[in-house]
Amino acid sequence: MSGKITVIGSTNVDITMRLSRLPEKGETISGGDYYQAFGGKGANQAVAAARCGGQVTLVTCLGNDHFTTLLIESFLNHNIQTQYVFVEETSFTGTAVIMTDKTGNNYIGVAGGANDFLTPDKIEKALPSISQADIVLLQNEIPEATVRFVLNTCEKLKKKVIFNIAPACRLTDELFNKIHIAVVNETEAEMVTGIKILNSSDVERAAKLFISKGTPNVVITLGAKGAYVAGETEGFYVRGLEVEAVDTTGAGDVFCGALAIAYTEGMPIRKAVEFANAAAAISVTRLGAQPSAPRRDEVLDMIKNLAD
Ligand code: ADP
Repeated sequence: MSGKITVIGSTNVDITMRLSRLPEKGETISGGDYYQAFGGKGANQAVAAARCGGQVTLVTCLGNDHFTTLLIESFLNHNIQTQYVFVEETSFTGTAVIMTDKTGNNYIGVAGGANDFLTPDKIEKALPSISQADIVLLQNEIPEATVRFVLNTCEKLKKKVIFNIAPACRLTDELFNKIHIAVVNETEAEMVTGIKILNSSDVERAAKLFISKGTPNVVITLGAKGAYVAGETEGFYVRGLEVEAVDTTGAGDVFCGALAIAYTEGMPIRKAVEFANAAAAISVTRLGAQPSAPRRDEVLDMIKNLAD
């Protein structure tokens, strides 16, 4: 019963340096720790969906550098189809450089690199995969023209799109009804709707705004508090699960990947969000974005334990 998902989005390499303190302008701080992790919302969500048992094709664009082969190997190790992983010869793989101090304060710089070359012509090449998908999972770390092209193409092909509007942007009105499920966290919900979110009635108002503009399903994730789900006829909360959070990086990506797989398997939206909520809760108990995504059996065990 495994669902076919085409994920269209970014790939980044995160280079993190942990220092005793953050440098002043022009200062050099030595003696730090260093580590490298694969990220980008597209790649993270593809990995999360594949770990949960989906048949995943990733449409993304890498640069021409030493990360290219490592990333493709990593996708293949996760059973992700890579025939539409493009390589832009003239660019570098998207990179985030992160400096943190011991207390978690940080400086972050992102260079989109090859992600900026995931243009509509590349999406056209990936049409065979989009046409065969049960659902398309999209994020907003790629050019705006591409996002628009994906939404328009999927509308023509009658393909449902789950759009994680992250990073957030204001959407033009004609795009809302091309989204089947919009997923945003509270900050993104504020940015997209312009409604300041201070309490649950603000959350519900923000969700209603999506519905009134034509998006049939909206999920607003609420961190440790879980998620609010709204459809045309009802709205309900899925309570956050009590876990010992170690690292919440990428929780939203695990949520989206797991939601997509559960939904394509035919679970009603409430069940699919419960599945995503459990997957994301497990992920926050572990370090990292991609390595923290749980396997399907772990998610099912967590749900079963809750019911017992
Ligand atoms: P993002 O990572 O995009 O900022 P959220 O912080 O809203 O998004 O988290 C996404 C989902 O991850 C939540 O809806 C919830 O299911 C899960 N989650 C996040 N933080 C926790 C936590 N501390 N405990 C349990 N679940 C969490």
